[in-house]
This record gives sequence, C-alpha cells and structure tokens, in this order.
Amino acid sequence: MSFGSVPYDAAITLAGLRRYRTGWKRHATWSTDEMASYQLTRLRAIVGDAARHVPFYRDQFAALGFDPRTDLRTLDDLAHLPILSKQTVREESDRLTRRPLPRWAVTERTSGSTGEPLAVQIAPRQIAIEKATVWRHWNWLGYRFRDPMAIIRTYVPNEGEPLWRHDTARNFLYCSAYHLDSENALSFLERLQTFRPRFLRGYPSSLAILADVAHEHGIGLTGLRAILTASETLTADVRSKLTTTFNAPVSDWYGLAEQVVTAAECACGQGLHRHDDYGLWELQPLDDGTGRCRIIGTNLHNTAMPLLRYDTGDLTVPGGHQPCACGITLPRIERITGRIDDDLITPDGQRIPSVNFYSVFRDFPAIRRFQMIQRRPDAVEVHLDARGLDTDAEQRLQRALQRRLGHGLTVTLHRDATFEQSDTGKCRTVISRISKSPHMEVPV
Ligand SMILES: [Zn+2]
Repeated sequence: MSFGSVPYDAAITLAGLRRYRTGWKRHATWSTDEMASYQLTRLRAIVGDAARHVPFYRDQFAALGFDPRTDLRTLDDLAHLPILSKQTVREESDRLTRRPLPRWAVTERTSGSTGEPLAVQIAPRQIAIEKATVWRHWNWLGYRFRDPMAIIRTYVPNEGEPLWRHDTARNFLYCSAYHLDSENALSFLERLQTFRPRFLRGYPSSLAILADVAHEHGIGLTGLRAILTASETLTADVRSKLTTTFNAPVSDWYGLAEQVVTAAECACGQGLHRHDDYGLWELQPLDDGTGRCRIIGTNLHNTAMPLLRYDTGDLTVPGGHQPCACGITLPRIERITGRIDDDLITPDGQRIPSVNFYSVFRDFPAIRRFQMIQRRPDAVEVHLDARGLDTDAEQRLQRALQRRLGHGLTVTLHRDATFEQSDTGKCRTVISRISKSPHMEVPV
C-alpha cells in the first residue's frame, strides 16, 4: 500500500469518515471551554512529541530553556516560542521532520506559484483530520456522499488525455483548471450541463471564467446547491458574479498545503468559521491602518512535521463576534484578504493592499480577467483579458490605476490575456516579485 494508490486512498478516506462521525462533527458545537481544553491537551501532546523527536525543536527548546512538561500550562504559554517563518521551514525542513517519520506519512508540496516551493511532511492522523474537516464543511452545506460534484482544480491531464475525468466511486467530475480558458470554456460548460453537479468546486479564477462565458451564452446549471471556492483570494466581485450567474451561494474555504490552520463558511454567509480543533490561530494586527491581521498558525495533529507558531503569510480581517445563526460555535473571521507578499510596494516603501484595485476594474465590464505583476520597485504590469475595451476606456483605466498607485509606480497595460499560473492552474490576481521593506517583518 503506497501513497496515491487506491487502497491507501480508501484507507485514509475511511479513517477520515470514522473520525468525522465519532466526534469531529460534534466539535463544531462545543462550548468555548470544551474547545480550549481539547486544544491544550493536543498542544501539549504535539509540543511534547516535538521536544523528544524533532531535532529543530529539541535544540530550540534547549536554547530557550523551555520544557513543555512544566512550561506549557496554558494555551498562552505557546507565546514563549518564536514565530516560525516560511524561510526557516525551507532551510530547516530536514531538522523539522520527526525522527522516526510516522509510518505512511506523505510529502505535500506547496504550489510553485510563489516562486519558491516548499515541501512538508504530513502524518496519516493529519490526513484523516483534513478529510474529516472537509466533510464537516460540506455537510454544513447539505452535501451527502456521492452527490455529483464538479471539481475544477488540482487535476492536470497528461498530453493526449481528456480535460475531464469522472471518479465514479465518489461521483466527482474532475476538470482541468490548467487548460480552462475563455476559448474552450463553452465545452466545459456543456460537459457540466450533462453531469448536472449539485456542487461546483474550484479556484475562484477558473470559476469566474466559466461564469463569464455562461453569462455570455445564457447557460445555467440547474440543480446547483452550492459553489465551493478555495486556494485563491475570493473577491467580493467574483463571489457576486458566481452567485448571480449560477444562482447558488458561494462558500469559501481557507487552508494551506502546509495544513496548519483552516476555516470555512457555513450556509449563513457571515464569515468563515475557524476549525479550532484542527489548528490554533493567532491574529497579529498590521500597523498599516487597514484592520488586517497576519495569521500565525499551529497545527494540533501533524506529528510528522510540527509547525509551531507558523507565519502563514496570509492576512485576514477578524469579525463575526455575535453567535452565528447556523448554531456552529466555532469562532469566525470576516474574510481572508490575500497574502502579505501580494501587497504592491511603492519605491518609498508604502504598501498598497491589492483589494484597493478591485473597485477600479469593476468600472470596466469589458475586462473579464486581470493580473497585476510587480517585478521592479518602480513599475507594475497589468495583464488583461478584455473584449471590446476601446482605446478611450483603456486610457481611462490607465489613469484610474495610476491614481491609485501614485507617481512612483508606472503602470503598463498588456492586452495579451496571458496569465501566470501554478502547475495546477491556480492563478493569483496580484503577484509581487520584489523584496519587502524590513519594517513590516514579523516581530520574533
Ligand atoms: Zn455559521
């Protein structure tokens, strides 16, 4: 039995289902005290295991004089440990790996779209918990096993293979996000009309392409119960486009390949519930007046490569302090607002959050899709997929963007409809390839 094989998949799926049914489902309605008690038990277990079996932490704890048996009495005691950066995980991945590695652990690789890929080890317990957490989320939206679900993400066919594949056991129709574009979206939609999905799952950028073409051709998807988005920042515009075109609510999921923390929307659409039994959240406010917080996460189950106080690089706006109408007691965040690395930076070091630009593009309905790339401190490229954008509109767009960016950054428009994407078709709206100003580094 090996990772990726049918017996392995079946065993992990069953383990996840068992965990979901024997407690995981119920955790979502726990009291604050019940959750805190569970978190502390798990935290002590994972930090204790790290102290014994993970060289990086064995050395770090010794240097700090930190003994989890006596120094980890409350959840707040975790703050005695320094924040772990992505860079450290890249450099110390070997020493962050448990010795011996748990049996059946797998290697998960983050997308190369950020420039530098990252590989992390995931223990089977964590893989099962990831499955159980996904099921819990889908269950909130009314999913039942073998409901038809179309999935436009992760599947990448080899040369000559079809652009979609039907997994008959689970009734999933996998479609290639990597190959989907506005030219062939019609054939994807025709396949979806035949499949009649109750759930549509995918990257926001891929689903937005489908929605545009569906709208243009007056195509609907009847019987759709919910649209599930993940892996890219979901903007208000794309959410509204998907809901209107496909006549179904959108439910966003936040997670990482590193599997540190995760959150997802219930059917109420009032923010994302944090899965606090999966990982511990710390929110560190940025001092830029935007109300955004860095997400620092600690997984509570992955003994194969425990990441304690890991700086995810993602930003959120906290919120949803009133009890949610759905009855789920898991705390909420208002929304995910992208990655700290996706802010554009002016030559004098000011950060411009990417959300600042979305409203500019909203005024130009001819623009189907855009991507902004900053490769130099003084210039931003804007790539466009636009039909019927006349010269006058193009000049207005140029001026509007230039106003938002200020004079230190020059905007150039590219009507080439070519977008940088990851090897599975993930497409980020804003990409910054320049180093960041030191004053925004996380305090350690
Ligand atoms: Zn809710």
